[in-house]
Amino acid sequence: MKHALLVNPWVYDFKCHDFWIKPYGLLRIAALLKNNGLKVTLIDCMDRLDPDAPEEFKKSDSYGIGAYYSEEIQKIGAYERVPRKYKRYGLPVDVFHKKLDALNQKPDIIFMTSGMTYTYEGVQLASRILKERYNAPQVLGGIYATLCREHAQRFTAANYIWTGDINNYFLMMVNRAAGVRIDSMEDREFNELVPDYSLYPKLDSVAVKFTKGCPYSCSYCAIKSFCEGYYQRDPQAILKELDTYKERGIKNIAFYDDALLYKNVFIKGILKEAIKRGYGFNFHTPNGLHAAYLDAETARLMKEAGFADVRVSLESSDYAIQKQTGNKVSNEAFRTAVDNLRKAGFEDNDIGVYILAGIPGQTFASVMKDVEYLKKMNLKIKIANYSPIPGTVDFLKIKPEFKAELMREPQMQNELYFMQLNSDYDRVAHLKVKAEIDGHNNTIKDKGNIKP
Ligand code: SF4
Repeated sequence: MKHALLVNPWVYDFKCHDFWIKPYGLLRIAALLKNNGLKVTLIDCMDRLDPDAPEEFKKSDSYGIGAYYSEEIQKIGAYERVPRKYKRYGLPVDVFHKKLDALNQKPDIIFMTSGMTYTYEGVQLASRILKERYNAPQVLGGIYATLCREHAQRFTAANYIWTGDINNYFLMMVNRAAGVRIDSMEDREFNELVPDYSLYPKLDSVAVKFTKGCPYSCSYCAIKSFCEGYYQRDPQAILKELDTYKERGIKNIAFYDDALLYKNVFIKGILKEAIKRGYGFNFHTPNGLHAAYLDAETARLMKEAGFADVRVSLESSDYAIQKQTGNKVSNEAFRTAVDNLRKAGFEDNDIGVYILAGIPGQTFASVMKDVEYLKKMNLKIKIANYSPIPGTVDFLKIKPEFKAELMREPQMQNELYFMQLNSDYDRVAHLKVKAEIDGHNNTIKDKGNIKP
């Protein structure tokens, strides 16, 4: 039986916390390979609950969130300017080696995923270690591989760089690389392929997707590089999937959807059935929800079904910026959504609102206005810092010389590095401190402007 080794590598960054992080795409590949008779082994360097992970990092709060084990790494190049500690997050490297030592069959093919473009050092490390040990072909996919293909080709040991979602061309590549024969599939079968969580010995949360893609085209978002269209899955298949999580005793479920509420008849139908089945999950929405589809019934069903800390995307309260970036929200729709959430029983502290700081053309005063706007509404403010990401409309507008630099060194796409180039940097940092002092429990987070 052919053996596939699947690896979710470490994250190198200035901050990383486990908000239900799962290698969703890689786990779908695991399901596909298993369905076709391959033996599959997963090493998830970002699994805090791994039996070999340091004990003190296995603790999660009641929502399944926890801190990662990390080791400080010396900053070089672009990152020397960032006044924060730079770290490798995830399993200690010797644990990774130990897991490879314990494999009772050499891999015939290796699949690796990749996260944000600028965290690629984890991919490089895993790829190098695997190349030193095995001759098996390496296939690298994920966000970094898709958006910085040439960089990944030059600076990792991967034999194949896969961009975007899996499809029949992917299967042809796997067949050739691994010497297997996986039959082609219908688009619908790819869309309904769900992650294989049975590869985790211990699990307290899962990530799900009820939809694929997004019908909007925000100027700062690279989603179209991963999925052109928009697809809603079969509700019966979704409920069957949720049944398995219930059977396994999963409590927390994070939506990785980009447009979960779009044409909300779909989600309403599923939530009604989920309520009937009395799952008792806590649902989380780390990707912001579209305010325009948060009508009274949707909000009520969400509350009843177990949605916990709801995140809503505003990005900016400035009309001109809303227009310029894709028109996905208006202040009116946003206020209505918040009213509906409150009427449904969500407390102010349950409602987090994403705003974006540093959008091209946005002034510091404009960000401050957004903060004041949300403070008046007494909502939790989640400030995300803008950075230029390949595959976005904004990226195309960047001067060619700077664009080339950003592609040559993807670390420059890190929001914390990018802020160094922004004369408003100190003021943005000040804004964070100010917001925290004001006791609104506000945070600055990584901008989730591209999705795994
Ligand atoms: S930011 Fe959100 S709404 Fe806009 S295109 Fe991306 S996924 Fe869609």
